[in-house]
Amino acid sequence: MYKRMYLLRFTKDNIDQPLICDLVKKYNLDFNILRADIFMQQDGVMMLELAGPRKNVQAGLKYLKKNEVKVETLATVISRDDDKCFQCGACTGRCSTGALSIKRPEMAVIFDPEKCTACGLCVPVCPVQAMHISLDKSVRFDYQRVEDSGQAKEEVTVPE
Ligand code: SF4
Ligand code: SF4
Repeated sequence: MYKRMYLLRFTKDNIDQPLICDLVKKYNLDFNILRADIFMQQDGVMMLELAGPRKNVQAGLKYLKKNEVKVETLATVISRDDDKCFQCGACTGRCSTGALSIKRPEMAVIFDPEKCTACGLCVPVCPVQAMHISLDKSVRFDYQRVEDSGQAKEEVTVPE
């Protein structure tokens, strides 16, 4: 499952439309509203986690953009608590980038943050919750806006 966090900026013209419900109904996506600053007839901002098949997420984002919602990706960071990790290897089967791998012959589970794309797939499979996902520390949500950071967020480009 593809899971990402986004920052959505609504305008006073689209803020009262059921666009988030449409993501569920039309695109079969799961969502989790992490923060929101929404008032009728005002511009608003929402931090949203979306999950589902990648093509559905992309189609849902395209739908939001068509409805004049500005969408930004929020960068996330994956870290491992080495005190908790007992090297079982369960997470390596979910990691397609090689960020989690088994080093032989020691059979040690290596985590290479440089290869990690922060997809989050390894987080739920860890039996001791050693893998953590969090927002990039340079991102700050102050109920009005997320502070700009070239590394922290990027414009979402959705293929036509
Ligand atoms: S699943 Fe958890 S405990 Fe097992 S190797 Fe991965 S991080 Fe360590
Ligand atoms: S978040 Fe994704 S890319 Fe990063 S270590 Fe976990 S499974 Fe691999």
